[in-house]
Amino acid sequence: MTDSVTPVDVKDVAESGISSDVNQAETNQITEKVNLLGLSQAKLEAFFESIGEKKFRATQVLKWIHQMGVDDFDNMTNISKALREKLKRIAEVRPPEVVQQLDSADGTRKFLIKVTGGSAVETVLIPDGERGTLCVSSQVGCSLDCSFCSTGKQGFNRDLTAAEIIGQVWLAAKSYGQFGEDRPRIITNVVMMGMGEPLLNFDNVVDSMNLMMHDNCYGLSKRRVTLSTSGVVPALDRLGQYTDACLAVSLHAPNDELRNELVPINKKYPIAMLLDSAKRYIEGLPDNRRKMTIEYTLINQVNDRPHHAHELAQLLKDIPVKINLIPFNPFDQSDYRRVSNNALRTFQDILIKAGYTTTVRTTRGDDIDAACGQLAGAVNDRTRRSERYRNQVKDSVEAVRIVN
Ligand code: SF4
Repeated sequence: MTDSVTPVDVKDVAESGISSDVNQAETNQITEKVNLLGLSQAKLEAFFESIGEKKFRATQVLKWIHQMGVDDFDNMTNISKALREKLKRIAEVRPPEVVQQLDSADGTRKFLIKVTGGSAVETVLIPDGERGTLCVSSQVGCSLDCSFCSTGKQGFNRDLTAAEIIGQVWLAAKSYGQFGEDRPRIITNVVMMGMGEPLLNFDNVVDSMNLMMHDNCYGLSKRRVTLSTSGVVPALDRLGQYTDACLAVSLHAPNDELRNELVPINKKYPIAMLLDSAKRYIEGLPDNRRKMTIEYTLINQVNDRPHHAHELAQLLKDIPVKINLIPFNPFDQSDYRRVSNNALRTFQDILIKAGYTTTVRTTRGDDIDAACGQLAGAVNDRTRRSERYRNQVKDSVEAVRIVN
């Protein structure tokens, strides 16, 4: 009986396109259901056509899933019973599983989300007055190994599927009771700034961001969905063909020598190349008044000196930017230290005097390790990088013990 088909590990058809013949699949009684959660409108339409149904079913199902928070076909009441039964046999709406939810005293909420292969990723909701910003992960770990980043130290396992990415928004919306008609909107902004480099998981990230902005789904404005990249230039060059979301560039240094140290991908795609590509993206947006955000993590005595601020101001002239300064959040495997308040103020003043809108990201969710750069999840590391870092930490602890 096909009703007893057991879904296998997350396998989102978005990864392979929807061209597979679902009727054939049903006939063959394959043991894999199509997870509709991560499908864009176009892919969902293709899915319904492939099972001999009308395209408009896609709109109905999108609304049920992403506006009403329904994951049970039986509750999709404007769909005929026969179609619901058919869907139950071949498809599912399967969000990822929350294994832990932590609430900070300041209102920040962190979700630890189980993904296949023994790993977990983190998603954080940061409330701030009327605004609620959800920081979403795109990969299990990260392959880029930025020297100041906790995620980078975890190594890399795999890309998240589109269902796992949009599933983070779905789960957060559910936990705040946001689904349903006339409910207050808690998630007002989404930033692709969690674990992973979004542009290295291009298709799934683009599909997910477009679902966030889609009128039949979460309906977020394109000004409220932001992709943050450390600089995968070839992918950034393509981005404008697929989305018009906001862009943030994780710069963290005003020159290549320093950035090579902090953000190793800079050796491949240096600053000039990255800023040119980012500028083209911003200039190509339909509304040409938007600015890109430059993220700059300030690390004590590393990149926080006044001459760095002057160099940054010079570097960014002629580019439409606002600058977001992020005080480094220390974590176990790092020797870097947090910028001092004085150095932070001086740095900000120099940029403001140079004419830049410059904000400082306040640390939120410290008590639950949810601050920027601290998302670590649990990565079943395929790169052995985490082992290397653990050994380094062990060696330095041992060295201190011997000296003492
Ligand atoms: S800062 Fe971003 S790109 Fe760099 S290692 Fe961390 S998650 Fe990856």
